[in-house]
Amino acid sequence: QSQELSQVQIDYHAALQALVEDGTRMVCTGRMHTDRICRFESLCYSTEAEEFVYFHSNSSVMLPNLGSRRFQPALLDLSSVEDHNTQYFNFVELPAAALKFMPKPVFVPDVALIANRFNPDNLMHVFHDDLLPIYYTMQQFSDLDLEARLFFMEGWSEGVHFDLYKLLSNKQPLLREQLKTLGRLLCFTKSYVGLSKITTWYQYGFVQPQGPKANILVSGNEIRQFTKFMMQKLNISLEESSSEEYIVVFSRTINRLILNEAELILALAQEFQMKTITVSLEEHSFSDIVRLISNASMLVSMHGAQLVMSLFLPRGATVVELFPYAINPEHYTPYKTLATLPGMDLQYIAWQNTDREDTVTYPDRPWDQGGIAHLDKAEQERIIKSTEVPRHLCCRNPEWLGAWLFRAYQDTKVNIPSLIHVIRQTVKSKPGPKKQKWSGSLYPGKVRDAKCQASVQGTSEAKLAVSWQIPWNLKYLKVREVKYEVWIQEQGENTYMPYILSHQNHTFSENIKPFTIYLVWIRCIFNKNLLGPFADVLLCST
Ligand code: UDP
Repeated sequence: QSQELSQVQIDYHAALQALVEDGTRMVCTGRMHTDRICRFESLCYSTEAEEFVYFHSNSSVMLPNLGSRRFQPALLDLSSVEDHNTQYFNFVELPAAALKFMPKPVFVPDVALIANRFNPDNLMHVFHDDLLPIYYTMQQFSDLDLEARLFFMEGWSEGVHFDLYKLLSNKQPLLREQLKTLGRLLCFTKSYVGLSKITTWYQYGFVQPQGPKANILVSGNEIRQFTKFMMQKLNISLEESSSEEYIVVFSRTINRLILNEAELILALAQEFQMKTITVSLEEHSFSDIVRLISNASMLVSMHGAQLVMSLFLPRGATVVELFPYAINPEHYTPYKTLATLPGMDLQYIAWQNTDREDTVTYPDRPWDQGGIAHLDKAEQERIIKSTEVPRHLCCRNPEWLGAWLFRAYQDTKVNIPSLIHVIRQTVKSKPGPKKQKWSGSLYPGKVRDAKCQASVQGTSEAKLAVSWQIPWNLKYLKVREVKYEVWIQEQGENTYMPYILSHQNHTFSENIKPFTIYLVWIRCIFNKNLLGPFADVLLCST
């Protein structure tokens, strides 16, 4: 991977002339700063001012043109974390004529993706906030291909997982600090700014306590397309017929330890009659961990960022997340949410230490490692006595700093019988990847050629015969059960009568009045819960 920019020969004078004459051109998608991604031609960056610069000329374009709403609060989020006030993007404006008085621009010839990493030293954040969003932002715009270059503007150094970011493109990603070495005024020939949030499943609790995102839009299929890409880049091939089944215990070696790990491993091996191995980020290469996890039947780990690696588990595998004393598993669910995404096909099990005797706390450590010595005595007392960390916001909240960190950095002696019992409630026989066939669920199309025919008997009775054809896609599908839902609504009324039917025609006589107009809504349902769209409403007059 090469770091220098000048592989594509560009005609400097032509580029400069184009910048002066055409200025910056920006067209964005998204209606709000939280869902916006912008494409720029000739977006510049002053490494001295540490500001992006938009040059106005007769040909420049700015869509959306928000006026001062551009600062309320920003043009867009530079990271995938929604509306975080340290992650906003904006630019300052100048007339293109000002270029005469500015440092000579250095042009970036590569198509650039400009974004912020959120927390590059934490593996959960790396995958959830950065790698998946970058991957799918690149999938969204065809010129963000493997020859595109990533620019990380958050200001961090490479971080411990930089090798993972390098897998996303053939060019070395550049950090904000490195831009200074390239020149005083950088101009990106073509760039995209911002990240897609479409794959994120968790919100970290900045405005309400942490939990799954309200409107999750990603399924296991897209997650696995991404992991497949990563594994190809890491040169890991999926072993089709894995010879031996095994359990992986993902251990932490610095803090939040499992104190009786050897005992745990023996117990798991014995209970499930499977080889059980340990990995840790400190002792194994990332590739080795992926290789092992991608064929494992079960992954067991303390709550913590390393559990995001369940991304790489095969379908049908089991995730067992261990929670220290006083930490309610229901309140911290990034890995549960991941494992239970539709189509991930993982079994998720949480176990919590409920025995004070089995926990080891570190009140005298620095506060960021869970120490509480800096707090006043009464507060320390209260935290130590408490049996559950109250729900809290991230990350400057006193509840978080005190009780949460104190409990999050406990070590735990796992009560083996209790853990095995919890696992056995879900895993009845042998755990492990089931060679499942594709279980994607397909929805019916609209029913076709819907018709109705009314008949009136006397002054008080009427019948409505309704018929329709099967959805067009049904003839290509094997569907276990096909049903139809019909709603009959008298025109002008708010209520309707619903029916579930097995055939493609039905004569309704209950509650059908003569000389009345009915609206008839019909949709197809596959396998009880795959609801199709309603066909155009039928107007039927008796
Ligand atoms: N980490 C680790 N071993 C340890 C402690 C931490 O591998 O003993 C990793 C952890 O997986 C994460 C990073 O170091 O990627 C930061 O850990 P931290 O405890 O701050 O975050 P958490 O795991 O609680 O999200």
